[in-house]
Amino acid sequence: MGTTVVEVVKAKNMKMKPEDDKLGFGKYFTDHMFVMDYSIETGWAHPRITPYEPITLDPAAVIFHYGQTVFEGLKAYRSNDGRILLFRPDKNMQRMNQSCERLSMPVINEEEVLDYLKQLINLEKDWVPEAEGTSLYIRPFIIATEPFLGLAASKQYKLVVILSPVGSYYPQGIFPVDIKVEEQYTRAVRGGTGTAKTAGNYCATFNAQSNAAKEGFSQVLWLDAIEKKYIEEVGTSNVFFKVNGEVITPELSGSILPGITRMSVIEMLRNWGIPVSERKISIEEVYQYHQKGMLEEVFCTGTAAVISPVGAFEWRGNKIEINQKQIGDVSQKLYDTLTGIQTGKLSDPFHWTTEVK
Ligand SMILES: *Cc1c(COP(=O)(O)O)cnc(C)c1O
Repeated sequence: MGTTVVEVVKAKNMKMKPEDDKLGFGKYFTDHMFVMDYSIETGWAHPRITPYEPITLDPAAVIFHYGQTVFEGLKAYRSNDGRILLFRPDKNMQRMNQSCERLSMPVINEEEVLDYLKQLINLEKDWVPEAEGTSLYIRPFIIATEPFLGLAASKQYKLVVILSPVGSYYPQGIFPVDIKVEEQYTRAVRGGTGTAKTAGNYCATFNAQSNAAKEGFSQVLWLDAIEKKYIEEVGTSNVFFKVNGEVITPELSGSILPGITRMSVIEMLRNWGIPVSERKISIEEVYQYHQKGMLEEVFCTGTAAVISPVGAFEWRGNKIEINQKQIGDVSQKLYDTLTGIQTGKLSDPFHWTTEVK
């Protein structure tokens, strides 16, 4: 690594670490964070690790008014022999830069920021939990900090990385969930910001998500914004359908977030000799497959839950049950293999993991 060791200001008091079985998601944060500032004059400068602390900003900062911000999400896993592993973190750095480009924000040096991130995790290594299914969630984000109400890209930014120990997404192991096809709201539209991990895409889904939850569904299935016909994503996950032995996932249409789990699942299925296609797939088509008994499995992919099987979905009053609400063989094998690679339990033929040391 050519990168230098960043300046570290140690926290005066260390926090109590929560028990592994009480972690939940995104509730606890470690003792330190990483910070770096950008200005037109200096570019990205002054990388440092500081105590985990509030950020003070001018009330006119662009982030508060025009939402100029991007984020990433990845995990560090503790292996049985005590090593700390990251899963394809270079892809997260790459995607953060793609998000930056969409939001008119300055790109980062991917290798350098990845190295800083590893230095932060190394300092906080005692926070990487050990229990089955737990991990240290890593949340890098960039905010526009210039105090200026004019409608233009900010000239100042702050990149911050915070760390949160998180529990098992499915404490009882993976199980299929019920979802609802969303017909009223739209998540993203071609030409919009759906391909970027940026704040506005997520608060725009809260209404639909809470309505679905009230009706007893755990997620919504998003259709395309223009024809309300083609399947895009489920909640904040990518989605796959197994039909007659073939796996189909919506193609990256310009309004779908390009998931790293999605990419890995496609590479893995191809490696196993299972046919995969990335193409447009309509909800009507999926319903027809179900009617003909050809719909074998439906599952979602994302860093949070890795593989999340769908047991049933509701579309225009039709309840579509999949595989008698049982986990399908391919879903289970993908889950076992991916989590096995991520935690170092299985060998890593694709060289997807990197050790933090
Ligand atoms: C982050 C995210 C995903 C999943 O991406 P991963 O890289 O697999 O975690 C899918 N959809 C949306 C909208 C997301 O924000």
